[in-house]
Amino acid sequence: MADVSAPRTLRSKRSLNLRFNIPISKTSRFWDSLSDGKLVTTKCGHCGKTSFPPQADCPNCMSGNVEWVDLGTEAELLTFTHVQITPTSFVDHDPYLVAIAKLKGGPNILAWVEGGDPTKLKPGDKLRVESRKDAEGSPYYVFVTA
Ligand SMILES: [Zn+2]
Repeated sequence: MADVSAPRTLRSKRSLNLRFNIPISKTSRFWDSLSDGKLVTTKCGHCGKTSFPPQADCPNCMSGNVEWVDLGTEAELLTFTHVQITPTSFVDHDPYLVAIAKLKGGPNILAWVEGGDPTKLKPGDKLRVESRKDAEGSPYYVFVTA
């Protein structure tokens, strides 16, 4: 007799590729700047809140009066983790470091640390944000040790 308490499933070893089309028209300046190696975001002209990632409208007061500000590329490491068992979506990557750092220009951001040594990194270390392009040419940012 079948075990009725266990949910019935079908198993497949096939890979599932997902493709996303994410509209970026209201935040395209972020991507264009990142391609040029600059990190920018939006700051509300009404309440003054800086948002990261950039927002078309202020999430704090809902004002559409946002301006672009340069965040610079200097950051200070707050914390990090060394991911040695990679999730399925990063199965083709070697173990990697993910960090949260405080940008000199404002918010805390999360990014991979390129070339970092997990035995030497410590909170307070100086990091720099640099832009990269993935295999499809889309820009992204990483931390590198300064
Ligand atoms: Zn606001």
